[in-house]
Amino acid sequence: MPPMLYFDVCSVPIFMIILVAVFARRMTKGLSNRLYITLLVLSVLSALSDIIVESVTSSLPVSDAGVVVSLIAGYVYFIARNASIVTYFFFVFAITGTWYRIRPKRMKAILLIPFSVIILTVASNPFTGLVFTFTSEDGYSRGYGIIIIYAICTFYALGGTIYLMSCYRFIPKNKMFPLVSLYVLSMAAVVLQYFYRFLLVEMIATAFSMVLVILFVLRPEEISDVSVGSLSFEAYKSELKKILLTKQNVHVAIISFTNAYELRSYLGEMRFQTYVAHVIRQVDIMFRREHVFFDIYYEHPGTMYIIIDDPKYDVEDAYSRLAGELMRRSEKAVSAGERLTAVACDLMIPGDLSDFDEIIRFGRDYIQQVPAGRVFVKASDIIASKDYRIISNMDIILNRAIAERRFKMYYQPIYSVERGRFISAEALIRLFDDEFGFVSPGLFIPAAEKRGVILPIGDFVLEEVHRFISDNDIASLGLEYIEINLSIAQCMQEELPERLAFLSDKYGVTPEKINLEITESTYEDIGSVMQFNLESLSGVGYTFSLDDYGTGYSNMQRVSKLPLKIIKLDKSLVDDMASDDGMSIVRNTIKMMRDINKELVAEGVETKENLEYLEQIGCHFIQGYYFSKPLPEKEFVTFIKQHNRIDA
Ligand code: C2E
Ligand code: CA
Ligand code: CA
Repeated sequence: MPPMLYFDVCSVPIFMIILVAVFARRMTKGLSNRLYITLLVLSVLSALSDIIVESVTSSLPVSDAGVVVSLIAGYVYFIARNASIVTYFFFVFAITGTWYRIRPKRMKAILLIPFSVIILTVASNPFTGLVFTFTSEDGYSRGYGIIIIYAICTFYALGGTIYLMSCYRFIPKNKMFPLVSLYVLSMAAVVLQYFYRFLLVEMIATAFSMVLVILFVLRPEEISDVSVGSLSFEAYKSELKKILLTKQNVHVAIISFTNAYELRSYLGEMRFQTYVAHVIRQVDIMFRREHVFFDIYYEHPGTMYIIIDDPKYDVEDAYSRLAGELMRRSEKAVSAGERLTAVACDLMIPGDLSDFDEIIRFGRDYIQQVPAGRVFVKASDIIASKDYRIISNMDIILNRAIAERRFKMYYQPIYSVERGRFISAEALIRLFDDEFGFVSPGLFIPAAEKRGVILPIGDFVLEEVHRFISDNDIASLGLEYIEINLSIAQCMQEELPERLAFLSDKYGVTPEKINLEITESTYEDIGSVMQFNLESLSGVGYTFSLDDYGTGYSNMQRVSKLPLKIIKLDKSLVDDMASDDGMSIVRNTIKMMRDINKELVAEGVETKENLEYLEQIGCHFIQGYYFSKPLPEKEFVTFIKQHNRIDA
């Protein structure tokens, strides 16, 4: 082996190590990484073919077989080596986020013309010997055509360098040097090789710069979420930015686990993460068979973002196939009650949304707007809806509503089966915006909770209801108490008992006239403050209801331990009474609750049949459109006066 060949030989293991590292480090399959891998493969090919040619020619004359091998290797070398220079040129566009500039096919075609000249020159070599010749006596010798090839490579190299420099705004300085290094080192190597013909340093120079690029430019450790074995949400954000900059067309399949919260508190953090990791692994395995480029990102506590680099891919069809398979597979892993439930959404970028912040917000909020019973939605359907317009303008709406005290309280009557009349009502907040009209509390209450502006709203509700009770002397209407919804933040507020005591004094409203509704998710995170609030408020005579029973993981033991007077059966349970199973669930729940001395309210009762059945199986109270929708104060009072007098 000629001594200088060692450089070439050394480059091969370096390329191999990078290649293994690329896969072991689970790099994303985004455009720039795909080009980088192509570049690696081409570099390995050029190094290997170069080694073959050089080692065969080291002892002349060459055998017939040697001639054939060297000829093949020679062609592979020329094609691979030049293709790698062109690939790097395109890599520069991808990594700088300016791919969109060469997105039109004709742009790429123009940029590939010089390369096609190289191909033609190399392809015609067997007839012209323009590039190189190989004979058994003289071995390998270069032709004049090689000048054309050098010139064209210089064109790509110079073009790429100048382009990189012009993009200095898009790339951090610490990444610029490794990127330019490939050009600088290759140029230096070529010059060196020109003066010292046998100093084969070109491949090792390339290998070094590829190492620099992977160490400083493509850094997977910045992007993976080791807890669940996927890419991190931060990686999703940076990939998204790149996609928007490069104006690529992609699908993002967003899959949200709708019961992540309950499941996490049920399984505990560790087991929940293991479970999510298992699901992500399964999704990964299934998607691999789809022949698309995809990457899975995860945001705690339960959203997967799958970027699919193929605008024509049918996400809906794939999801229905994969979700079915996933269900079957996870059956083995967990028992039925512990299964994740999910809703998926297909978002096209930039077709549906093209603003970064809006895309991020959409992923977090779309779930609230999925129609009940749907497991798959197209983002375009949601975006076209009125609710979406409201949600994307929620900051303006909330600021305006709080500043101008735009809220009103409505009251929905609650009927007592035993007494045959209305004995209470639930206070429900309403917001009418000048620009957006009626804004449902189902939308703005969770939004206000997230933004940390729920407390002033909750304070308004408390005060308004106290004023209402005192102004209308509800006892004279036959009403015993009013139910008030408490948000999580209110329950955890240290000043809550003080605040209620203050209002009680100010309006002369005794605690028995107030019933406070909390939800299961509220007492799931029961903190010491909340525990204290519940106990001290019950101590002075306030009663509590558990709202939305039947929507989460209900823990009977906890229900029996908390100071709860009333359990409110969620509308979904009432609706399910259409089926035999649903019937028995409601019947048994009522029986169980009666056994531990809880009173029951059925919510969302709309039909006579449901009403009669609920009465028959021992439900104490009924609330729902069957009797009345929530009404404004005056209408509510009129309604109660009419009905309670007629029925009394
Ligand atoms: P929720 O506490 O479960 O309130 C019951 C919801 O069911 C109300 O929706 C009510 O209008 C609706 N509803 C009652 N009967 C029927 C029926 O027969 N059919 C149908 N389809 N719906 C019925 P609303 O008023 O839109 O409130 C939605 C949610 O917003 C409430 O759910 C509650 O979680 C929250 N919310 C409302 N007002 C307040 C409030 O003052 N404070 C807090 N923290 N949350 C509130
Ligand atoms: Ca409620
Ligand atoms: Ca409810």
